[in-house]
Amino acid sequence: TSLRSSVDDKVTAPDKESSVPYTRSKEARDSSLTIIVVGASGDLARNKIFPALFALFYDDQLPQNFTAFGYARSPMTDEELRTTISKTLTCRVDKSENCNEKMSQFLKRCFYQSGQYSSEEHFSELDDRIREKEGGKTSNRLYYLAVPPTQFVDVVRCASRRSSSENGWTRMIVEKPFGRDSESSSKLTLDLKQHLTEDQIFRIDHHLGEELFESLLVLRFSNLVFEPLWSRNYIRNVQLIFSQDFGTEGRGRYFDNYGIIRDVMQNHLLQLLALFAMEPPVTLDAEDIRNEKVKVLRSIKPVSLDDVVTGQYKGYTGGNMSVPGYTDDPAVSKHSLTPTFAAAILSINNPRWDGVPFMMVAGKALHSSRAEIRVQFRHVPGNLYNRKPGANLDDATNELVIRVQPDETVYLKINNKVPGLGMRLDCSDLNLLSKSRYPGEVPDAYERLLLDAMRGERRLFIRSDELDAAWSVFTPLLNELEEKKIAPELYPYGSEGPVGVHYLGAKYNIRCE
Ligand code: NDP
Repeated sequence: TSLRSSVDDKVTAPDKESSVPYTRSKEARDSSLTIIVVGASGDLARNKIFPALFALFYDDQLPQNFTAFGYARSPMTDEELRTTISKTLTCRVDKSENCNEKMSQFLKRCFYQSGQYSSEEHFSELDDRIREKEGGKTSNRLYYLAVPPTQFVDVVRCASRRSSSENGWTRMIVEKPFGRDSESSSKLTLDLKQHLTEDQIFRIDHHLGEELFESLLVLRFSNLVFEPLWSRNYIRNVQLIFSQDFGTEGRGRYFDNYGIIRDVMQNHLLQLLALFAMEPPVTLDAEDIRNEKVKVLRSIKPVSLDDVVTGQYKGYTGGNMSVPGYTDDPAVSKHSLTPTFAAAILSINNPRWDGVPFMMVAGKALHSSRAEIRVQFRHVPGNLYNRKPGANLDDATNELVIRVQPDETVYLKINNKVPGLGMRLDCSDLNLLSKSRYPGEVPDAYERLLLDAMRGERRLFIRSDELDAAWSVFTPLLNELEEKKIAPELYPYGSEGPVGVHYLGAKYNIRCE
């Protein structure tokens, strides 16, 4: 088999109405779908991808003609793969007896093929086995590359030459990291594009599959009250916060090569910022949204070292507690300067956001796990209630908080009067949305993204020009940090992070919560 081109994705454009289940679409009825998890012996496959596929299968979101193949070098039989993955499948949707029945139906559709990542011959063998299972008028294949990035190009080359669909589409989901800087990322893109078209590449950042991303757009564009305030005229600053209350536990080797800026800021937080700050897209189509994101990303000035604080957590022993520091990880050098915490100010050079600081804060081993956007509004001009000398104007500013963790919620801090004869103001929360209103299970990010990739919906996947623009924001900073060997400020495990953050916030008149 020589290089087989994928059928143009336009033929299989996603249903415009995303509420139409994929299983009811013409494509799902008429064709077979094979999902090939490359690196099936690994952590990500076992803990995330197969469980997400099972949740979709349980929820009848997968087509009738669906098969999953695991591919990796480790020798394993189909049965051994089934035993391994069955340990991590959970009945998220319904804990009734029916779950076991569904689980065994699902496992019967899972197969395993062992092979090298760089062997075209081994991918041909995979192709033979996939063909045995395929049916329907067309056969579609979705690859999930759950292997270290060093293997991406080999897999893509072999799979596209020897094991892509002949009459349907072939798509490949690629996991981050997408390079370490602008140069390596462009090289990876070029290498991938020798074998795939941009339409076939689905760059995944699983955080983009979280509810926050979609709800941010709904909040902005389907309510009259927010969009008119969404600019430098009313917004004083924006904070994007992503903190974890655990360290690199077990991921030290991977993390030490990347650090928090590459791991969280350059992708996850920057994507969030882009959705927050972009101009309204023409439609909700993926290309319209991605065009707007690229525009705003290109308007962001490269981050300056003067506007950054980096930190690294240190261990401590106190009472009967002892926690390890970052460099206590055996996979990390004792002299590592890799930041496990960073705070940075970003500026968007466009008419909407000129002069508004966007502060990103990301860190590991902090006192809480938090993921949220905080929008601080300007002071009320000539505020009648703030005329006392020494009154703190900040106490009276409105703040909008869009939070994914610990509890999904959106609230607006407003001032109101405490009931009674006196005139006392209180700042309370106007809770716009909370888990209690929607008590149902929220699908895992991987479920949403896998389903989107099957549907050909690219909205939550990163396009190559977006990736280039995102790297341009951080690459000069990363180079400078590394060339100048900037030592991160140490902070105790479980603390609020380096104190330097408060000075950085103060420089831009940002009240850090
Ligand atoms: P693993 O390290 O577990 O690797 C997956 C599989 O790839 C392994 O089982 C192994 O399979 C093969 N492999 C590992 N190292 C090498 C190597 N040096 N050369 C060739 N093959 C190798 O990774 P994960 O499953 O944790 O993650 C997969 C990818 O997803 C990585 O790129 C990671 O950065 C990314 N990622 C992971 C997340 C997670 O939650 N785990 C989250 C976000 C991204 P075999 O030996 O059988 O071939």
